[in-house]
Amino acid sequence: MPDPPRFFKQVNRHFDRASALIDAPEGLLKQIKACNAVYHVSFPLRRDDGTIEVVHGWRAHHSQHRLPVKGGFRLTIHASEDEVTALAALMTYKCALMDVPFGGAKGGIRIEKENYSDAELERIIRRYTFELVQRNCIGPAVDVPGPDMGVSTREIAWMSDTYQQLVPGEQAGLGAVTGKPLGSGGVRGRVEATGRGVYFGIREALDVGEDMAPLGLSPGLDGKSVVIQGLGNVGYHAGRLLAEDGARVVGILEREGGLFDPGGLDVEEVHGHLLDGGTILELDAPTKVDRAARSDGLEWPCDILIPAALENVIGKDNAPRIQAKIVAEAANGPTTADAARILEERGVFQIPDLYLNAGGVTVSYFEWIKNLTHVRFGRLERRFQAASSHRMLRAIEGITERDFDPGTIQRLAVGASEEDLVNSGLEETMIAAYHEIRELARSKDTDVRSAAFAIAIRKVAHTYELRGIFP
Ligand code: NAD
Repeated sequence: MPDPPRFFKQVNRHFDRASALIDAPEGLLKQIKACNAVYHVSFPLRRDDGTIEVVHGWRAHHSQHRLPVKGGFRLTIHASEDEVTALAALMTYKCALMDVPFGGAKGGIRIEKENYSDAELERIIRRYTFELVQRNCIGPAVDVPGPDMGVSTREIAWMSDTYQQLVPGEQAGLGAVTGKPLGSGGVRGRVEATGRGVYFGIREALDVGEDMAPLGLSPGLDGKSVVIQGLGNVGYHAGRLLAEDGARVVGILEREGGLFDPGGLDVEEVHGHLLDGGTILELDAPTKVDRAARSDGLEWPCDILIPAALENVIGKDNAPRIQAKIVAEAANGPTTADAARILEERGVFQIPDLYLNAGGVTVSYFEWIKNLTHVRFGRLERRFQAASSHRMLRAIEGITERDFDPGTIQRLAVGASEEDLVNSGLEETMIAAYHEIRELARSKDTDVRSAAFAIAIRKVAHTYELRGIFP
């Protein structure tokens, strides 16, 4: 097997292509592209059987043009300096693109999660957090980690608790980590935010009939066939919402293999089965691939292919065989620069990661604001909004001399809850960003990815220009 392409190099190739669209000094572009710092920590873990093992972890600060820096951390055997650096760079561009006022960071711990007990995992996360505190790599004003692959609200709760034990009494301490469970300072809607953002982004792209016509697709999601790689947090929620809005999930690929059914798969059933500890191959479907052939599923016929697991899964070897008309990058970095070119030449419409999976960091930003302000979204205005709507309905009744039935009043006289506001803020952010990107792509006659990178680079450059460069 050829060496996998180095991930940071791939991100920088996308950057270089886009930076040609921007009028900025070359030295400044080089500074924006460079990773400011990468911390490598190694620490001992006492395993349940008494043996001691060395665990390696990283935290990359790609750009501190804005503080705090922000980015999730992952638990994966593939964690490396290259991986966290590339992912931190993507965070810089993603936050800039979406007007989320953070710099870019990312972390990783190199473990195969399945090989550790819950107690061992807790010791690992708590020790990693201690290492981050020692290096000023966590805190609401400096660096705010969040979830990524292999990290759920449980791991985030351990991290947040450890931080608060080590830095007691900090007023905004809850804002040191995002993706927390609700009872520990989390925000409603964060768990599904990335998948929901993926859904909004795909829906927005498909709604533009002018862009869909060359692909031979009618506008809208209805009846569109979808293949998803990775039914984890992002893949599951994206698939669920797409299916609820009329799309047909025909293929699902997981670690153990994949299923393909042109008639449609039940996303909830497959997800429930995986949650119960089953493997995907225990389920029925007309076509199945095993673990050895699981990446062949990326080449299944469909309208929309959603890689939602790993980076570099579409390379120059398989790009010529991808049959999807749209590749919607829910994962970070699933398409190499060479593959992106090949897909583009073949007329495949690509919705890039730095836009499409930005829902997670957007809602993390809302969570951080909630933690800094110590007030739940909607707490002040919800009842007032409901009462105003109620008065309005009564006034309409007075004018029309017709009474609404109690069900209608109950449905319309409501105020926005925290979840309503979070989802609406996410939807607004995804829609606004898509049209900003599309406008630039059209005006510069370029692809969506280059336009997204160009907007992000321009915004980071602008921040540098406003702040000046420290001598
Ligand atoms: P996750 O761990 O919840 O899910 C990943 C899924 O992929 C798992 O179900 C896993 O079994 C599956 N998988 C692993 N290797 C596979 C393979 N070779 N083939 C098929 N399936 C495989 O992780 P996640 O949080 O859903 O993240 C997925 C991707 O989305 C990552 O690239 C991550 O960086 C990106 N992302 C996540 C978030 C977030 O908020 N969680 C935000 C932005 C981007």
